[in-house]
Amino acid sequence: MIAAGRTALLALACVLLLVVPAGLAMTSFAPRPHIVTRPVAFPAKRKTEMQAYAKRHYGLATWQLRSPKVIVEHITVSSTFASAFSTFNADVPDSELHELPGTCAHFVIDTDGTIYQLVPLGVMCRHTVGLNWTAIGIEHVGLSDAQVLGNARQVSSSLALTAWLMSRFQIKLGDVIGHNESLTSRFHKELYAGWRCQTHGDFVRADMNVYRSRLATVAKRLGVPTDGPVRRVTPHC
Ligand SMILES: [Zn+2]
Repeated sequence: MIAAGRTALLALACVLLLVVPAGLAMTSFAPRPHIVTRPVAFPAKRKTEMQAYAKRHYGLATWQLRSPKVIVEHITVSSTFASAFSTFNADVPDSELHELPGTCAHFVIDTDGTIYQLVPLGVMCRHTVGLNWTAIGIEHVGLSDAQVLGNARQVSSSLALTAWLMSRFQIKLGDVIGHNESLTSRFHKELYAGWRCQTHGDFVRADMNVYRSRLATVAKRLGVPTDGPVRRVTPHC
């Protein structure tokens, strides 16, 4: 009976191996790090504003973020989580481009390494001109790239969060970019001519190369694929 049971189990295992597609069998999921939910206000009014923004800038009539392809890393250029939260919670025209909805990010990582989630992953957030239609935004509380990269607890949380998001959405290592790299992303799209060359100075290429190198190590350890072609586009600015 036991032998017959073992035989049946072995046969079932063989059948399962045969029916699981090769791609799925290779898929690995990084563990979800501990995330503290701290939602900013995103009522129907803000969703309507986000949809109008997406139509104006991307030709998309939706406020929903579907199958994100890019992760953009940011620096808040402020020293506390509270001030970042306050900025993202206020649905007022942003101080630079004067447009609605208010700016936001899906995640903010505090200097002690705490990961806060402010916006659900199915909702578009205004954090990077040209990429909001397909990008998850991660802010790091700090004043400079160097300050954040020098904070071991903050970087460790950031790498764990980013690796988890990469595995969850099959995002390639090369599509994990710094805000300052936005114009060279192959997913950059901006219909409003005046904003086509707009970007910010946070997380420049040299610092992101350091970040991606550390991320590759973490991803490999977790079995998250990091290969695949990475294409940069030349911005016409
Ligand atoms: Zn930024």
